[in-house]
Amino acid sequence: MKILITGGAGFIGSHLCDFLLEKGHEVICMDNLITGNMDNIAHLFGRKEFSFVQHDVTNYIYVAGDLDYILHFASPASPKDYLMFPIQTLKVGALGTHKALGLARSKGSKFLLASTSECYGDPLIHPQPEEYWGNVNPIGLRGVYDEAKRFAEATTMAYHRYHGIDTRIIRIFNTYGPRMRKDDGRAIPNFITQALSGQALTVFGDGSQTRSICYVSDLVDGIYKLMNSDVDTPTNIGNPEEMTILQLAEKIIAITESESAIAFKSLPEDDPKVRRPDISKARKLLGWEPSVNADEGLRRTVRYFKEQI
Ligand code: NAD
Ligand code: UDP
Repeated sequence: MKILITGGAGFIGSHLCDFLLEKGHEVICMDNLITGNMDNIAHLFGRKEFSFVQHDVTNYIYVAGDLDYILHFASPASPKDYLMFPIQTLKVGALGTHKALGLARSKGSKFLLASTSECYGDPLIHPQPEEYWGNVNPIGLRGVYDEAKRFAEATTMAYHRYHGIDTRIIRIFNTYGPRMRKDDGRAIPNFITQALSGQALTVFGDGSQTRSICYVSDLVDGIYKLMNSDVDTPTNIGNPEEMTILQLAEKIIAITESESAIAFKSLPEDDPKVRRPDISKARKLLGWEPSVNADEGLRRTVRYFKEQI
């Protein structure tokens, strides 16, 4: 297949480029590098099945020739990034998704939207199944990301129903691994960087909020299974291994054999108190199951960060 990946120079997008090239597909990576990094894809230049286009997908997207699949991953994704780029985040979720769907319509391509567990907001149902509509504050600081993704889901379903586009929606839960930026502000890069440099790990609030962390290779496997399925309704992909943020910080201190302390800082506005995917649907319809546990995934990620530092 000839596949366009928007946001392909980002953390997840670059792993998708690698994976799809290995599967023998042709990959066009499109990115405006607002939070992405050319280093993530530098090793792919020179391969004839790979090309890179620097472009902001909130503007008209031009791709020559046929296109079989569009994977729409462009969007700032870490809370620090989307708070720094609130308007760009709203635009890429709304206008960027509209442009990417318009391209899918004109080329007759299949389309997969990278959505998020943030669609569930600060959830009142736990764990979160796809049927849950969520608890999102539209005017809070995180609203720029959450509502943009909810709009993106609504637009995708409208193009599916009205124009008959063959679409997929994946709701990604906290994913981590090599190629996360060490300054992207997310808990795992922050904690690893702090632990490796002997600084205190900054736990927000009392650290009792939970997250369930998925290693990037498991996510990519889930994306590929969803791409090749006929499941056209939103599907959670994430690892249900849930822990508190304080437990995550302690685990990273243990893995890095660091002597760092823990420093408690104030909790950001609307920070979800719990998060854990119900993955019954992915298990049943995709035969997908995560295989890398948190200890192993974190060890691999620490190795990457050590090389970077
Ligand atoms: P990332 O910031 O590393 O990657 C996003 C990429 O999109 C970057 O390369 C950025 O430059 C690019 N981009 C942003 N706006 C663009 C625009 N207007 N035009 C072209 N490119 C643009 O983040 P990530 O963690 O790799 O996330 C990738 C996708 O997965 C995002 O859509 C995100 O919402 C979604 N997601 C990620 C997670 C996670 O845990 N990592 C969880 C839920 C959803
Ligand atoms: N967090 C933290 N210390 C940090 C960064 C994040 O305690 O240095 C917390 C954050 O408040 C949230 C959790 O870790 O409760 C996960 O944050 P992250 O930014 O990784 O992703 P989120 O799930 O909030 O999108």
